[in-house]
Amino acid sequence: MERTFVAIKPDAVKRGLIGRIIKRFENRGYKIVGMKMLHPTLEMARKHYAEHLGKPFYERLIRYITSGPIIAMVLQGENTVKGARQLMGSTQPNDAEVGTLRADFAQTMEFNVVHGSDSVESAQREIDIYFKPEEICDDWKTMLELVMESEKKQS
Ligand code: UDP
Ligand code: MG
Repeated sequence: MERTFVAIKPDAVKRGLIGRIIKRFENRGYKIVGMKMLHPTLEMARKHYAEHLGKPFYERLIRYITSGPIIAMVLQGENTVKGARQLMGSTQPNDAEVGTLRADFAQTMEFNVVHGSDSVESAQREIDIYFKPEEICDDWKTMLELVMESEKKQS
């Protein structure tokens, strides 16, 4: 089982897309083990996007991600890092496949509605920025987990 960090960015919250975005991840069967609305502080944003420090878009990116509340989520499942990014689509919405969140809901690379970790290591780092350990709720089973368990028992 793998965890990833996903955020619904401020543009998507303001546009009323929260439900439609969460639905795509739920459809895939990922288990939501952490979720909250918060307004990222400058410190959180700088930690989150430390890898982009010094790039031409960095200051605008920090302004964007601190411009309003986000929905921060921790998703758990099989290959969640790669799978969540597949559902999100390419960073540049015009290169994203139709049916992905960025192709369907965004026009520009800057305001591209969602964030998803790019590796298991980044996921752990990003989860630690936005969540306290006690805010993770994984002591329950999704329907998909129950189905998978019962299939395993029978084989
Ligand atoms: N971004 C931007 N201009 C660029 C590249 C990235 O405004 O030329 C923003 C965009 O919001 C993107 C975020 O910075 O989602 C982080 O960039 P990254 O390359 O990590 O893309 P992601 O992992 O989000 O697909
Ligand atoms: Mg990235």
